[in-house]
Amino acid sequence: MLISTLAVVITLLLMTTVFYRILQSQIIEDLKIYANVLAQGDILESLQYNPGDLSKDNMRITVIGADGSVLYDSDADVETMDNHLDRPEVKDALEYGEGYCVRQSSTMKMNTFYYTILLQDRSILRVARESHSIWSILYQSLPVFLITLIALPIVCLLLSRYLTKSLVSPIEQMAADMDHIEEANVYEELVPFAETIKEQHDAILSNANMRQEFTANVSHELKTPLAAISGYSELIENGMASGPDVVRFAAGIHQSANRLLTLINDIIQLSELDVMKEEEPFEEVNLYELARDSVEMLQIRAEERDVILTMEGNPCLIQGNKQMIEELIYNLCDNAICYNNIGGSVRVSVGSEADKVILRVQDTGIGIPKESQERIFERFYRVDKSRSKSTGGTGLGLAIVKHIVAVHGAQISLVSEVGKGTDITVTFDSKR
Ligand code: ADP
Repeated sequence: MLISTLAVVITLLLMTTVFYRILQSQIIEDLKIYANVLAQGDILESLQYNPGDLSKDNMRITVIGADGSVLYDSDADVETMDNHLDRPEVKDALEYGEGYCVRQSSTMKMNTFYYTILLQDRSILRVARESHSIWSILYQSLPVFLITLIALPIVCLLLSRYLTKSLVSPIEQMAADMDHIEEANVYEELVPFAETIKEQHDAILSNANMRQEFTANVSHELKTPLAAISGYSELIENGMASGPDVVRFAAGIHQSANRLLTLINDIIQLSELDVMKEEEPFEEVNLYELARDSVEMLQIRAEERDVILTMEGNPCLIQGNKQMIEELIYNLCDNAICYNNIGGSVRVSVGSEADKVILRVQDTGIGIPKESQERIFERFYRVDKSRSKSTGGTGLGLAIVKHIVAVHGAQISLVSEVGKGTDITVTFDSKR
């Protein structure tokens, strides 16, 4: 409203000035033509005999002698008029041959325009007419101006109300029902915003669901070993176990407690990876050395299961976190040993290819069915629950692996066939 009011005022002032200037130059131009026509022949004589009715045209004609005395005037008595030599238009005519001047009339409303021309006998012909002053033009346009000034804010008010409403109402609609954002009647410019909000909303929801599911899974996983510990210890407490039984029950308690520890360790590790910042300090690590150490550490476990574990490759440097990389290699090798057949083999290799470093763990184990290959990276997902549990698996190993791979900006891929074996490769950027 302020802007439109200002615009109206400024326009009025500018237009009035412009129009007034045009009017002024038009009047002067008219006077000039008129004077030039009159200047043909002996004016003084013709005027005195036939002055005509000039007043209806608002015209006034004066003839001034070279000494400034008024020789003829169509309006006033020559006798009463003073010397005109000091009038600017007269001075100009004497000096330059013509002159003009605008003076205020008796009232503010009118201006008088004078034009003078020097005649051959050095007397001066002056024509004048009255016209509206700039104030009177302003005054005349005042009603239109006032109407505009009142109407404009009203139009502004109605329009801005309508606009604001149509801008805000889809947003309100979205805020009111976050679950059905796509149903809100949004305009084009709001679509990217609505989409982002929807994505974020969905992400939050699915995140919340995942957490809830994870908590439920964790509780469930913790329950079994705890129930076993509780049961065994109750039997011992009640004196219902004889000597050899006590040893057996104690072993059961020990095993369940270990299982709890493993589970909790994995959970802690996962939640640490969850909150980890992107810019964790990375160091230069030799993937080959780390793999060789893990293989050495797992040799006994492999022998226990009659699995042949071998290692090949050459030193390759990557940028990473040593502990995490160790964990990743250990988890992959441990799976390859656990989900293997008696007499099977596991081959670990590290090598570079162009600007990539590749870690590969191949086994001749039981393989993973097609429909499970995507899901084994989920938390607590196992293809065969009982087999996983019997080997001390938690179902979290590959979830941890996936996280570590993501943190390192690496890629993991899996090829597996049931009954033949599994081949997992992790591709890192090599250190430049
Ligand atoms: P777990 O602790 O049960 O080993 P993981 O997350 O490491 O959990 O693995 C998830 C599931 O993927 C395992 O339970 C197993 O069924 C399957 N799996 C993982 N690695 C292999 C492999 N090398 N061969 C066959 N199956 C595997």
